[in-house]
Amino acid sequence: MKHRIVVLGAGYAGAFSAGYLARQLHSDDFEITVVNAEPDFVERLRLHQLAAGQDLRHRPLEQVFAGTGIRLRPARVTDVDAGHRTVTVADGEGIDRLEYDTLLYALGSTAADHGVPGVREHAFHVAARPSALRLRARLDELGEDGRVLVVGGNLTAIEAATEIAESRAGLRVGLATSGELGGWLGPKARRHLLRAFDRFGITVHEHTTIARVEEAVAVAADGTAFASDATVWAAGFAVHPIAAASGLEVEPNGQITVDRQMRSVSHPDVYVAGDSAFVIGENGRPLPMSCASAGSTSMQATAAIIGDRTGRKISTTALSYVGNHISLGRKDGIFQLVDGDARSKSWALRGRTAARVKSAILETAAWSLSHPTFGRPSHKYRLATARERSLDVVAA
Ligand SMILES: Cc1cc2nc3c(=O)[nH]c(=O)nc-3n(C[C@H](O)[C@H](O)[C@H](O)COP(=O)(O)OP(=O)(O)OC[C@H]3O[C@@H](n4cnc5c(N)ncnc54)[C@H](O)[C@@H]3O)c2cc1C
Repeated sequence: MKHRIVVLGAGYAGAFSAGYLARQLHSDDFEITVVNAEPDFVERLRLHQLAAGQDLRHRPLEQVFAGTGIRLRPARVTDVDAGHRTVTVADGEGIDRLEYDTLLYALGSTAADHGVPGVREHAFHVAARPSALRLRARLDELGEDGRVLVVGGNLTAIEAATEIAESRAGLRVGLATSGELGGWLGPKARRHLLRAFDRFGITVHEHTTIARVEEAVAVAADGTAFASDATVWAAGFAVHPIAAASGLEVEPNGQITVDRQMRSVSHPDVYVAGDSAFVIGENGRPLPMSCASAGSTSMQATAAIIGDRTGRKISTTALSYVGNHISLGRKDGIFQLVDGDARSKSWALRGRTAARVKSAILETAAWSLSHPTFGRPSHKYRLATARERSLDVVAA
């Protein structure tokens, strides 16, 4: 019987990892199944664009995985039982249970509502394609007349507010944040950001914590009510509750606790990559949820899976956080670099060049999914016997 590798999620982390494993492991020994809620690879980094009304390139996973032998299972994961090595999935035909020998958990994250009443019922978000499309439909309804309030002061809030303001010039866009807008940026980047918000006519309410969301209003902790025809909740991401319910050891924020090789600390046959993983980076701090982290954690997780299953030496990938690229509509952006303590450097790339760099990074990230070895040769590593693997561990 073949060794069954099941990959949950085909976003940046899962799609890259599955493609890479399929190119390195012998298909006589390994069977790789990918479960994903959508039949397409969704460029999550562009979902604010989709919400604002732009159409994204269609990227069917069948094409991304063409010729790899990967079995694609478009279905929703509803449960993981790490103790019994099973995954429950649901699709239009019903419920099914998959068994695995090795699991790669890469289900990403969703919008964090922080328990604020009314967010689930009344707010919109851009953390997944269905929710971005729901917001887009609402903005279409509003047409040229309406108020949009974006809640949050970090990357996604900034990108969502500026994209909507640029694409839907008739709408009155505001942003409410409990702290300062882009307060973590270096001085040059922050000045650039504030000028861009000014240019787009976005009203900024700093030090404003939204404590309740209703159908046409968002209410701050001090009782101030903001009329809003569409409240966009962009106040951070949280891992799907599936992880905490799986029996895997998780952090208080729901991320799965892993070792340096991206193995679950409680269930070493489960590996984790992308937003779902809690891992300490090279700077001694938790690696932030980001596309770059999805890339480095995937490389580390796949190296560990190949090493653990074939007896090969596991190479180390640097888990580094170097900065953030932020779009401000389609023609402007900021690329803020950070130092070894994750503090913003004083200089940042700004303006049209930063927008072009971001666009190139996004294209490369999407391209890498169907070219995960970046042109380096593929291999056909065989499954080592349990004895060979344990001898290898002893030798190491
Ligand atoms: C609007 C927006 C803009 C962003 N911009 C940036 C940016 O500029 N730079 C940056 O570094 N990061 C950015 N991010 C964050 C970045 O998108 C994530 O950190 C990255 O996508 C994480 O990769 P992942 O593979 O862990 O998760 P994802 O890319 O989200 O992939 C998870 C996959 O799992 C699938 N899935 C989820 N739940 C289930 C389920 N129950 N069953 C089956 N399938 C499921 C999803 O459909 C998806 O395909 C942005 C995020 C958003 C929402």
